Amino acid sequence: MDATVGIPPAVTEETEPFWTAAREGRLLAERCPACGVESFPPRGICRACRTRPTAFAEVTGPGVVYSLTVNHQRWLPDLEVPYAVVLVEFPGHPGVRVTGRLRGCPPEDACIGMTVEIGFEPGPGGFAIPSFVAAR
Ligand SMILES: [Zn+2]
Repeated sequence: MDATVGIPPAVTEETEPFWTAAREGRLLAERCPACGVESFPPRGICRACRTRPTAFAEVTGPGVVYSLTVNHQRWLPDLEVPYAVVLVEFPGHPGVRVTGRLRGCPPEDACIGMTVEIGFEPGPGGFAIPSFVAAR
């Protein structure tokens, strides 16, 4: 079973649409209806012009790894280590960077600039957690 372990996310009014879409395998960022600026994670207010409420835009892959780290610490008893955590940018979605676990390649093969696809994994509390899959 290749599932994430940990503590279920705290869902708020601002993040509920994100988690609902995640269950359907769709990654949502916030898009301001007034100025068009996108941001992630959802905050319920535009980071550029302070408009609220905001709307959502679907982000699709592939994405590009902007930064990464490899975790060797077994934070929880069921956690398989090591694994890479990547911060991913998406062409056409400036300002949106999403963090997630990297799958599909050994953690030591993770590198900045690599192409990844969006994937979701079953997570704690029945939530679908965004993660990334190394593109072939
Ligand atoms: Zn705005």
